[in-house]
Parts: sequence; structure tokens; C-alpha cells
Amino acid sequence: MKIAFIGLGNMGAPMALNLARAGHEVTGFDTAARPEGLDLADSAAAAATDADVVITMLPNGAILRAVADQVIPAMKPGAVLCDCSTVDVDSARAVADQARAAGLDALDAPVSGGIGGAQAGTLTFMVGGSDDAFATVTPLFDIMGQKAVHCGASGAGQAAKICNNMILGVTMIATCEAFALADKLGLDRQKMFDVVSTSSGYSWSMNAYCPAPGVGPKSPADNGYKPGFAAELMLKDLNLSQAAAQSAGADTPMGALARQLYRQFVEDEDGRGRDFSAMLPRFAGKSRQ
Ligand code: NAD
Repeated sequence: MKIAFIGLGNMGAPMALNLARAGHEVTGFDTAARPEGLDLADSAAAAATDADVVITMLPNGAILRAVADQVIPAMKPGAVLCDCSTVDVDSARAVADQARAAGLDALDAPVSGGIGGAQAGTLTFMVGGSDDAFATVTPLFDIMGQKAVHCGASGAGQAAKICNNMILGVTMIATCEAFALADKLGLDRQKMFDVVSTSSGYSWSMNAYCPAPGVGPKSPADNGYKPGFAAELMLKDLNLSQAAAQSAGADTPMGALARQLYRQFVEDEDGRGRDFSAMLPRFAGKSRQ
């Protein structure tokens, strides 16, 4: 397949390289990054011309909309625009409508699995859009990832992503504050892990990504809280889930509180550039007011 890949950052570059290594003809474009091993075009439109599938992996919805304005007029009829960025549901739907109006098809296909998953080709894709477009792009999802779930119509992929990450933000905070409470009660962290990871308090945050160093499987906590998944990316996703809750009229008080705590951590404390599990030293260093 002929593929254009727009946005070659931490996630996009390894995803594009995996497609090229699997034998696809990949042309990349990025306004800043110039990763080795990929054919690069001079503009997003030039990369998209003649492509069967145009994949985007960009920072946010405003940039996605700007790139869509450039690539959609250049794409050939029937081609698929597949956005893998994490963006707001409204931008995902607007770009899909714009693509369909131009005789194209479109998918929103955000990912879970982080930079490690992008490099290893083990991402999970959550996908919104038509059955036909999903069938066209599935062979590419199979190269870049281990699982692709077709969640529904346009926007459903982004909806799944922000709901999942709202749960993740809330459970990480709950796990970190429980560890900090356990410390103050004199409970050993390893014993806390042994009990909770096999009891009803278990979660991915505790069992797979334990925020306590030296406890549980290896995680960013064992590497000085170097990300991993940076606190500011968690804040981005919690901002998206709160914006979606507001526009859909959903009551999400735990999501709102998680957003407030990550905002404080990133903007007013030392959270920027640290893994999102560094909420544990944050809570451990605080006393009840
Ligand atoms: P990144 O900042 O490393 O990469 C984004 C790239 O887009 C940059 O190289 C930037 O130069 C490029 N770019 C910006 N404007 C552009 C334009 N107009 N035209 C072409 N290129 C442009 O970010 P990332 O970590 O690769 O994340 C990309 C997306 O994936 C984000 O939406 C993020 O939320 C999502 N995501 C990231 C992770 C993660 O762990 N990093 C995990 C899941 C999802």
C-alpha cells in the first residue's frame, strides 16, 4: 500500500518505520522532525498525493484540523484519512465529515501503549468510522499494533480513548494516595502491593504500572519517574475527557478532580516532565491540612 505519514514525533516515527519495514511504500512529513530511514516529502500535501491511506499522528485537534485542510484536497478519491492522534471528539468528527464531503473516507484511531508499544508494534487501536475504511486500514493496524477494536462511527475511537484514560488518571491517583496513607499507617509498601494486587483494590495502575519503586513489575517508578507516560500528557487527556463531558452533559466529578490534581501537579508543582505515577512522591510528601 502507498502510505503518507504526517507527524513523525515520538509515536509517529516508530509507527511509520514499522510500516516501511513491513514493505509498504511510506512517505513521511513533519514540520520539525526528520527521522532516519524514511522517505520525506516537502509538505503534507505532497506526501498525501497518490497515497491509499494518509495517517496523521499530531499533538492536538487544532493542528489536526489545519493538516486536514492541507491534505484532503490533495488526496485521491476513495483514499482513507486515518488519524491516530489523541484529539477532542468534535475535531475527530469535523475532520471525518470534511473528508467524506471530499469523496474520501476517514477513521479516528487513537492508540494505547505509548512509545514502547509504538516501537515494538504492539499498540492497541480504538477506531471510529465506516466498516469499509476499517477493513482497508486493518492490515496496517496489524503491523503497528496487536489489537484494533472497531468502536463505532466517527468519534467513537476518541470517545473510547478519553474514557479509558479518565479511568487511568483516577485509578492512578487513588493508588498513589492509598500508598501515601499506608506509609503513614506504618504499612510496608511491598505488603500493601501483595494484598491490593490480589484483592478488590487491584487495577492496571497497581498491578502493571505500580507507582512505588522496587515494588511490583518494573515501571517508571524504578527509573526515577522518568516517563513513561508524562504527567502533562495525562493532563491533556483529562482536559479532553472533561471537555467531552461538558459538551455531552455527563456528570464526571472524579474525572474533574483528577484533572484539577494533575493540573496543579504539572503547572504549580514539579510534575512537568515526570511520569504520571510521580503522584506518589507528591502525596507522600504532603500532610493533611
Ligand atoms: P510528539 O510531540 O513527539 O510528535 C508530534 C509531531 O507532530 C512532532 O514531531 C511535530 O513536529 C509534528 N507536527 C506538529 N505540527 C505539525 C504539522 N502542522 N504538520 C506536520 N507535523 C506536525 O508527540 P507524540 O508523543 O508522538 O504524540 C502524538 C500523539 O499521540 C498525541 O496526540 C498524543 O496525545 C498521542 N499519544 C501519545 C502517547 C505517548 O506516550 N507519547 C501515547 C498515546 C497517544
